[in-house]
Amino acid sequence: MTELDPATTTLGIVGAGTMGSGIALAALYHGFSVRLYDVVEDARQNASTYLQNHLDRKGLGDRLDRVALIDDLDRFSEVDFVIEAAPEDLGIKQELFARLDALCPPTVPLATNTSTLSVTVIAAATSNPGRVGGMHFFNPAAVRPLVEVIEGADTEAEVLARLVSLASALGKTPVVVRDTPGFIVNRVARPFYGEALRLLGEGAADVETIDRLVEGGGRFRMGPFRLMDLIGIDINLAAMQSMYEQTFGEPRYRPHWIQARMVQQSALGRKTGRGFYTYPETQPEKPAPEPEPKPRQAGRGNAFIVEDGWGPGIRDWLSGAGLTCTDQLGERPEIAVVAVGEAEQVRQLLPALEAELEADVPILCQAANRSVAESSGWMHSPERLIGFDGLFVADGAMIHLVAPPRMAQGARERLDTMMLNLGRVPLWTKDSPALVLPRIVAMLANEAAFAVGEGVADARTIDRAMRLGVSYPLGPLEWMAKLGVERVLHILEHLQREYGEERYRPAPMLRRWARTGASSVDGFIA
Ligand code: NAD
Repeated sequence: MTELDPATTTLGIVGAGTMGSGIALAALYHGFSVRLYDVVEDARQNASTYLQNHLDRKGLGDRLDRVALIDDLDRFSEVDFVIEAAPEDLGIKQELFARLDALCPPTVPLATNTSTLSVTVIAAATSNPGRVGGMHFFNPAAVRPLVEVIEGADTEAEVLARLVSLASALGKTPVVVRDTPGFIVNRVARPFYGEALRLLGEGAADVETIDRLVEGGGRFRMGPFRLMDLIGIDINLAAMQSMYEQTFGEPRYRPHWIQARMVQQSALGRKTGRGFYTYPETQPEKPAPEPEPKPRQAGRGNAFIVEDGWGPGIRDWLSGAGLTCTDQLGERPEIAVVAVGEAEQVRQLLPALEAELEADVPILCQAANRSVAESSGWMHSPERLIGFDGLFVADGAMIHLVAPPRMAQGARERLDTMMLNLGRVPLWTKDSPALVLPRIVAMLANEAAFAVGEGVADARTIDRAMRLGVSYPLGPLEWMAKLGVERVLHILEHLQREYGEERYRPAPMLRRWARTGASSVDGFIA
């Protein structure tokens, strides 16, 4: 196939709205000629102003000569590619594709920018569905680096290859995806919102605490609620509803009443000034900085630690804060930490520790795969046990703590002081299955495992799409490799046991990887 030369290539873009004008701008930036078609005069006018402003800002004002804003689709008979960005309506798109199919020479690939409709179904309106594929851009299309190139059931290999090279020539990173509901990004991201909404609905924590844990401990650029406010609660709900409907009620995609209610009351996020947060003009995008933990000092005593992979980073944190880490109960420790996954070991350790240690030594137990209520049930003084998230201790300046069912008077304040002295800001939530980050990240990884198993794309592609499409700091499968497949499986099984819901069933592919000992993204093969 010959190399694509933007200087001699004309794109026909259908729809001059948000996406069509963004795609046109990307094309002009990269030297293409563009025909931008819209049926609405105002839309053409707005697109023209938008393109002019952005090109002028970059000193590329003369490129405006290369775009023709048109109201006559017949002028698409001479374009080299078509990208359709008309409204998300199957009837409109099918009618357009039937006309385009008749108008454009058969060698011209026809692409749709649909986010929720099936490329295969749109293509069915043409006489040659093999020429039709998807190019799913992200908003703002001139800026966002990812394009999902969708392979419909009938898309010809050569057409797919040409759409991939078109995306590259537009300065984008293309990822090839099979035509399935939500493609990669809109599908794999669902648990990020869905699990956060459930945590909120169950009263496990408030909006801000969940966002701070996800941003601080997981290094996500924005927590789920801050991000939903930015996207628009209505848009986010529509994406969830579409996935739920397209899959005939897959429980992982069930929309949440909190979102539906917010849409009904027009609390749509930043665009209406009110969502999960309120937005007066002065509101900063990010919350105020965290209170500074106290500076570290060396030689402050011992920390008793038992860790089997459920608390990576615990030793580094505590020794960095000046404690000597030991697994021997000799000298009185300042703190005892049990970051163990296996139930039997925890059941033996906890009563032994409470028998050995003075009543004022806090005993922390990781709670990603076992509730604090369950672990504390193995103790004589359950009010002594504090749950914590051991899996996400390594990153960030926070520690996620969970109070026992009946906490001793003053114990919480003492622990807050101790954590600040050890360099961590404590954030408390209720005892809730798999806590916050283990639950959200395990469900993201599970969704990615389902997608790999269903042949949507391979593991590397899914991770790349999530990093570029929604700016995740790690791909969901990189996370799975980091946490360990077995541990992710235990978290999901814990969630499924606690809720008794099919929503939390581990993907068959994830179980297979656990059995075969797959431990890296390259090993996560279907
Ligand atoms: P939009 O409403 O901003 O733009 C649609 C444009 O199409 C309007 O200007 C409208 O006048 C025009 N139009 C209506 N009927 C037409 C017809 N028959 N022929 C030609 N033009 C027609 O919508 P948008 O947000 O740009 O979305 C367009 C497509 O891109 C949809 O399929 C949407 O799902 C998809 N998409 C949107 C986003 C996003 O964030 N907005 C992201 C990815 C994909």
